[in-house]
Amino acid sequence: MKILNGNEVSKAIKLEIKQKVDALKSAGKKTPHLAAILVGEDGASMTYVAAKERDCTEVGFNSTVLRFGSDISEEKLLEEVEKINQNKDIDGLIVQLPLPKHINEKKITEAISYKKDVDGFHPMNVGMMFKGLRTFLPATPYGIIKLLDHYSIETSGKHCVVIGRSDIVGKPMSALMLQKNCTVTVCHSKTQNLTDFTKNADIIIAALGIPLFLKADMIKEGAVIIDVGITRVADETSKNGFRLKGDVDYENVAPKCSYITPVPGGVGPMTRVGLLLNTLDAIELYQKD
Ligand code: NAP
Repeated sequence: MKILNGNEVSKAIKLEIKQKVDALKSAGKKTPHLAAILVGEDGASMTYVAAKERDCTEVGFNSTVLRFGSDISEEKLLEEVEKINQNKDIDGLIVQLPLPKHINEKKITEAISYKKDVDGFHPMNVGMMFKGLRTFLPATPYGIIKLLDHYSIETSGKHCVVIGRSDIVGKPMSALMLQKNCTVTVCHSKTQNLTDFTKNADIIIAALGIPLFLKADMIKEGAVIIDVGITRVADETSKNGFRLKGDVDYENVAPKCSYITPVPGGVGPMTRVGLLLNTLDAIELYQKD
């Protein structure tokens, strides 16, 4: 069994991005600039945005965080998004979710120009991704593809089971694995006899958000296991009072599979790299517009 080390691979990719950014700067070209909108003071959201800011600094991007109180109106937030859409210095914009209940998340994310939608959530980008056209890819599936490529994991003709069909992970993941010539099965909460599918899978991508859901007796010997899940599980022995748990029963699954991602240190860091790659791509795709 081999560990798919997201920390190590993301480090190497960040170094490559930095070299490209340095080259852009020395050629007098534009430095990629990522903006993030953060509404309210949700602890996890603040942590995610701070991590994205650190990533930008590490690779030499400019970054801006626009912070608003949780009482901001939907109308005002839409105006702020439009200001960034018009700001030629900003290449990518992300709105950290979740937003307060009085704000329609769909309306806000769809108000972001598809040319700056580095999260890849805009219907235009989703459509282009499904057609296999070059565009921004949702960061988590993008990071997973980079991880599989890094370890030269064979996908062609393999049976890939994706557990979960969310817009940000399961659905785009299934489209990207199809493009990599897998035979793809997508399972979800209404799937019956899920083990019948997972037992026959060469590659399993678990993205359901139920800690330790995938057990050793649900997989076949030698399968490749990608664990997307991150759930905070209360644990008094940890200094934060919780531990991060994946969707895979790692301890028992690991000895049976060929490759596996740990949690933490697998898909998480690759997701962060996916966002950086999209922001760099924004320069190439749309800088001239
Ligand atoms: P989500 O929107 O809650 O979607 C969960 C999916 O799992 C749904 O499609 C649901 O089916 C399916 N599901 C739920 N229970 C199931 C069951 N018993 N059997 C089979 N399928 C089941 O979650 P998400 O945003 O995709 O995220 C999934 C997990 O990945 C979460 O733990 C999240 O924190 C984590 N995540 C991690 C990263 C990272 O960077 N590592 C990034 C994004 C998300 P229905 O559609 O039928 O409801």
